[in-house]
Amino acid sequence: MYLYNSATHQKAPFVTHTPGHVEMYTCGPTVYHFAHIGNLRSYIMEDVLEKFLRYEGNTVNRVMNITDVGHLASDADTGEDKMLKGARREHKTVMEIAKYYTDAFFEDCRKLNIKRPDTVQPATGCIDEYIKIITALLEKGFAYQAGGNVYFDTSKLKRYYIFNDHNEEDLAVGVREGVEEDTNKRNRNDFVLWFTKSKFEDQALKWDSPWGVGYPGWHIECSGISMKYNGEYLDLHCGGIDNAFPHHTNEIAQSESFLGHPWCPQWFHVHHLNTATGKMSKSKGEFLTVSLLEEKGYDPLSYRFFCLQSHYRKNLVFSWENLDNAQGTYRKLIRRVAALKQEGEADAAAVAVYKEKFLQQVGNDLNTSLGITAVYDVLKADLNDATKLALLDSFDTVLSLSLTEKAAKLREEEAKAKAEASTAGDYTVTGEGDAEIDQLIFRRAQAKKERNFAEADRIRDELKSRGIEVTDVPGGAVWKRL
Ligand code: AMP
Ligand code: ZN
Repeated sequence: MYLYNSATHQKAPFVTHTPGHVEMYTCGPTVYHFAHIGNLRSYIMEDVLEKFLRYEGNTVNRVMNITDVGHLASDADTGEDKMLKGARREHKTVMEIAKYYTDAFFEDCRKLNIKRPDTVQPATGCIDEYIKIITALLEKGFAYQAGGNVYFDTSKLKRYYIFNDHNEEDLAVGVREGVEEDTNKRNRNDFVLWFTKSKFEDQALKWDSPWGVGYPGWHIECSGISMKYNGEYLDLHCGGIDNAFPHHTNEIAQSESFLGHPWCPQWFHVHHLNTATGKMSKSKGEFLTVSLLEEKGYDPLSYRFFCLQSHYRKNLVFSWENLDNAQGTYRKLIRRVAALKQEGEADAAAVAVYKEKFLQQVGNDLNTSLGITAVYDVLKADLNDATKLALLDSFDTVLSLSLTEKAAKLREEEAKAKAEASTAGDYTVTGEGDAEIDQLIFRRAQAKKERNFAEADRIRDELKSRGIEVTDVPGGAVWKRL
């Protein structure tokens, strides 16, 4: 496929270290609160990317961390550990809230049809890994100790700013208003690999290390976890666009300095979901969650559909009106799929042609909206229903909109509702508990009542051709299969 690469600012064919196999890494959630639907936009798009790579025939090993330590309130090593803040807010221990919000995250993912990565690793489970890397970085002269902490020395790098050509002013993340600058740093963008002297005496989780009892910085987690489970050569690294700097920039700095060779050539960044008033944030009071969408009567998959309608490299504006529109369109789509009949044989040649087109279109920098267009193209096409269903099932292995499952459910619900209606009046159908047949018989009775004999005969013939024998009885009909 063609993918835009944030590191080169270009769209190019995606090439992996081992042809046909993708080592993929995703920055996981910081589990101090629920994920907001902005976070989940990133995970939805990364999920489609993984599924598309598999659809192309690759094997994929996808790894994700769970940040349960070390992510401070500011991405530049200042402020309080977010986990500690969450624990204090809820009068629980850090591990309790980590477990609670990790489970909540995967529950949201399940509702949004986001597949669980092959490996999910909490950051607190890989301390030895970070210690090994930090020790080597100190030995190689890429790190230094100051004021009790271990820092990465960005001045030792040939090139630090990988994703952008910011000037120094833009990158002054360490000197945000009201936040004390860390005077131990030799260079402004140096970052903490290991904290031993934290301003926060009550930091909950601490481990022994060659530099004293402490805890790892946020960036080292992802390098350590990725190297452990993806190996030395990572093919594809994903995250939201806010992760590009400083998080991913620092991951590259420490990983390549440690390995002594290039680490990951392809960087995939999902742009933000914003509200009309700006960026979505977990720390700003009430925020939008999957549960809130459900409480308001939305199907979480309508939100997935909404995300797929637009390109991952564009900011997306969330509003209830936009979600209403997406939900309306999604429901109509399901209705159209439900109208397809499960009969006949799929035309293998036609399936191959449409699949190829889907591969080309979605394969152009993960163009998910064209993926949805491909679904409508199939529905409109001059193909038999079996072929259409085969194609929809195939595309849905990537889009994961539960098209045929939802359609089956809709048919079932409608049949049930209609069957119930058939006994509601003075006409009762008794049979073998098949709502669709009940419904046909009911429609035949209705047609007779309306003196629409042609329709009544047509239904009688259809029932006959399906091997159903109908006997009229007072107040209704009884049927059985012959
Ligand atoms: P966090 O739980 O804060 O570590 O973030 C989890 C993921 O969500 C990261 O990949 C972030 O880059 C991403 N993210 C954060 N805010 C947004 C947003 N508004 N829209 C899309 N992705 C986001
Ligand atoms: Zn990360």
